Amino acid sequence: MVTYMDTEALVRLSPVIVRGQVESIVSRSDAAHTEIHTDVTIRLLESLKGGAGRDRIVLQLPGGSVDGYQSFVFGSPGFRKGERVLVFAQPTKRGALTVTGLFQGKFRIESEGGVDFAQQEGAGDAGLVLRRGQKREAGRRPLADLLDQVRDLVKRHPTLEAALTPPAATGPVDAVSSADLGFTLHPIIALRWFEPDSGIPVTMMFNPANAPAVVPGGARPQFEAATQNWTNVTGSTIVMHDGGDTTAACWRADGVNAVSHGDPCGQFPDFDPVTCSGVLAVTGVANFSLESKVVNGASFLRFREEDIVINGGTDCFFADPGNYGEVVGHEMGHVTGLGHSCGDPFSPDCATDPVADAALMNAFAHGDGRGPTPQKGDINGVRFIYPPAGFVDAQLNGSAFTTGQTSSLTADFNGTAKADLYVFVTLPGGGFFALGAGAPNVLVPVASNLQLGFALEVPLSTHTFTGSEAAGAYTWYALLVRPGLNPAQSANWLSIDSAPFTFTP
Ligand SMILES: [Zn+2]
Repeated sequence: MVTYMDTEALVRLSPVIVRGQVESIVSRSDAAHTEIHTDVTIRLLESLKGGAGRDRIVLQLPGGSVDGYQSFVFGSPGFRKGERVLVFAQPTKRGALTVTGLFQGKFRIESEGGVDFAQQEGAGDAGLVLRRGQKREAGRRPLADLLDQVRDLVKRHPTLEAALTPPAATGPVDAVSSADLGFTLHPIIALRWFEPDSGIPVTMMFNPANAPAVVPGGARPQFEAATQNWTNVTGSTIVMHDGGDTTAACWRADGVNAVSHGDPCGQFPDFDPVTCSGVLAVTGVANFSLESKVVNGASFLRFREEDIVINGGTDCFFADPGNYGEVVGHEMGHVTGLGHSCGDPFSPDCATDPVADAALMNAFAHGDGRGPTPQKGDINGVRFIYPPAGFVDAQLNGSAFTTGQTSSLTADFNGTAKADLYVFVTLPGGGFFALGAGAPNVLVPVASNLQLGFALEVPLSTHTFTGSEAAGAYTWYALLVRPGLNPAQSANWLSIDSAPFTFTP
């Protein structure tokens, strides 16, 4: 998650701003493959700030692929060899030059009708925080207009002396490297954990060192709540296990899924506490494998290790109640495999989709104190990725009806197994009536040997009350039973859900 940066913020926070062409793309790692990064060499056509006298700069991006080991960070920008770019760059804490604001500082230059346009990198899987009063600028603008604005802003925000000579990109020691890749690595296929398919939890550990002390109630309880809330989503098998405290830190393949604070390995740029802007937190996939599995019709690769790195200098943001919880809960949503519900170029416009807008995985933090609570859209997402054998979630459009009103029963389904589906309502005077039956108190399935899958708001029954129905308390039940087995024995059930209501003539 990063804060939104307009052009002025990008200029202010970037000691180096250049226009050029991508010349080579090489991934490097240390000998143990604990950290992979990718060096993107840009041949300069113009230096707008900080690059005077240079003909090339090297950007270091987190992630890449070396010797069959691969990693990536949600929200890192993509580059292709030969691509023309305008890049705003700032150093990481350990001195390597990288793109400002994860992806926001990268513009692709493309010609259209003889005019060059600058297209800002899509938000991808990173989150944006739009601060109160901020307006988003157009992501695509005529290049000449953007360059004019940048040149004006550079006069107001000149490069600091110390940043005039950007340090050479540094990386892991004992580096081994790949050949020129021609592109930076972004998995095209979605990823998920395979452990939940065998009932194994995904263990996340908490590194308390440098955790922000300003978080109301403390940071760790918010982390615990995030693990519990993602685990407690019904109809999803993923268990996010709080593995206790650890000294493991950073985004690195050390075999521990860790939340660490203050970016202790200096992998990301400083957060700017004066303007309260920059990279708040990053979820990095430290390791994944090319094993694949099809779930609910979608193909997934396998997560092997993920780390959440919370930046330092972020007290200005985390002092507000619920903000740390929302950020750690959102990042943990990425750990499960979720992308953004809305707000980036690969998801709907938040204004057009209330469910996506309310989601924790909204690309823009709500910042309203909600903390790490998955909402309907998040729940749907994690159910899709981690289906149990069978699951049904029944919904009724009300809980109290009178004559002339219409009740409508729907259900969300999820699952990998086959099942017999029974839908019945218990009556105020005792007994029940099953859908599909010709008489009361006869239990018959409405569907037999049904292959379960992910389906939302499947209509099961509508009924308009005439006034002849018995007054009192009713309850709808939707029941999934292993095919052909006795529905009266709960051992045969895959899932059951109920929806009570009353009728008053
Ligand atoms: Zn995000």
